[in-house]
Amino acid sequence: MTRTNKAPVAALGQDMSETVARLRRTHATGRTRDVDWRIAQLRGIERLVDEREAEIADALAADLGRSPQEAWLGDIASTKGEAVFARKNLRKWMRKQSQRLPLNQYPGSGWVQFEPLGTVLIIGPWNYPVYLSLGPLVAAVAAGNCAVVKPSELAPATSALLARLIPEYLDSEAVAVVEGDGSVTQQLLAQGFDHALFTGGTEIGKKIMAGAAEQLTPVTLELGGKSPVIVTADADLDVTARRIAWVKLMNSGQTCIAPDYLIAERSIRDALVDKIAACIDKFRSDQVGGLRIVNERQFDRLAGYLKETSGRIATGGATDRSRLTIAPTVVVDPDPAESLMQEEVFGPILPVLAFDTLDEVIGFVNGRPKPLATYIFTRSRAARTRLIDEIPSGGAVVNHVAMHCLVPQLPFGGVGASGMGAYHGRWGFEALSHRKAVLAKTFKPDLALVYPPYSGLALKIMRKVF
Ligand code: NAD
Repeated sequence: MTRTNKAPVAALGQDMSETVARLRRTHATGRTRDVDWRIAQLRGIERLVDEREAEIADALAADLGRSPQEAWLGDIASTKGEAVFARKNLRKWMRKQSQRLPLNQYPGSGWVQFEPLGTVLIIGPWNYPVYLSLGPLVAAVAAGNCAVVKPSELAPATSALLARLIPEYLDSEAVAVVEGDGSVTQQLLAQGFDHALFTGGTEIGKKIMAGAAEQLTPVTLELGGKSPVIVTADADLDVTARRIAWVKLMNSGQTCIAPDYLIAERSIRDALVDKIAACIDKFRSDQVGGLRIVNERQFDRLAGYLKETSGRIATGGATDRSRLTIAPTVVVDPDPAESLMQEEVFGPILPVLAFDTLDEVIGFVNGRPKPLATYIFTRSRAARTRLIDEIPSGGAVVNHVAMHCLVPQLPFGGVGASGMGAYHGRWGFEALSHRKAVLAKTFKPDLALVYPPYSGLALKIMRKVF
């Protein structure tokens, strides 16, 4: 473990390069390639979240005001699910994949084998600070890598807890935690890694990519964006309202795959808004004071959206800066040009628009940067197929919200402005492995005609065979 956030800059840089050098030395020994080592690390992650659930919940409450139930669902069950799935499937994922060869390469054999990349950097955000640090770490160790984890400084209690616990449960010669802010991240990137996996906002994502480019470090960028929920008139509005409200309220709306805005068919739009408002009242009857926002900067941004909006507040609207709370709010018909509809909301505010035709809604969503997810509530197969096929997005969920994230069989990632690359399950193992192409030949036969100088006959035969 390297606790570096309070160190002077020169010491910090030296400490960091020593940490990375130590991990590289460990990787060079080859011990992280061993399947048993990988499985031991995955078990370590499982044990960490199981045995330290109470401490994790306390840290999340201190950083984010999160309830123990949401701490369990968002950070503990999700992390454990990834680790268990990887542990159970790892031997299968590690198998060589034989490939058929073209005739001109016989006799011989060809295969793809997965090789660890080396030492990777994981940069986590504050909103699910355990899951989004340890989830990528599952992929890193499953692929046989050493890793530096840099948790977010904006969730300081969780960052300190991870720095303390990770060395207790994982091989501390292979996995290190470095704490600190964006400048620490840039100094880490300057060390050069074999891969960097970043989760965070699109603007910081650009800075990560620029920092990584200096060292030619490949990146996976798990970014954000405005994920739309599209509801057609034939949807079950009660179920739709419950599912949207539930996920939107989770972690005070500070979830990358939260429904960002709702666009519903005009004939049912107002009825759906009423049902969502009723669900919000019911689900948050124990939190009448509003939902806690992570810090003043984020609070001011969200309160600013509410001040600026030209839309009608259908429910909520109250803000309290002294307690950093915002009431869950539904805003009907905001101007598509205002900040609420231009920026990722990332808070408990749901803007709602109406559409008349599928062409219109497809045009609207596609007129904006590609979202991380598209959510479609409909009973119509034709509508569902059109919306899935014609709206590019990282993922899509039909008749629910955000649940694809909990399915390790599906790759999780964005496209365009919402990210590049994907992980979870096998996809994470592959993202942090090198796919090595191997062709193995025999010494015999060794046909003389392939070597120069070429006779006319040899060229004729070669043109036929190759
Ligand atoms: P962020 O981009 O502000 O910060 C993420 C990390 O980047 C932190 O560890 C931070 O220390 C570091 N950082 C900040 N400035 C930096 C700089 N100049 N150079 C290098 N590193 C720097 O993100 P956040 O506010 O923690 O999280 C919110 C954003 O993350 C939202 O946009 C959300 O949609 C997105 N997000 C995406 C996913 C996903 O899986 N796709 C998951 C959660 C959050």
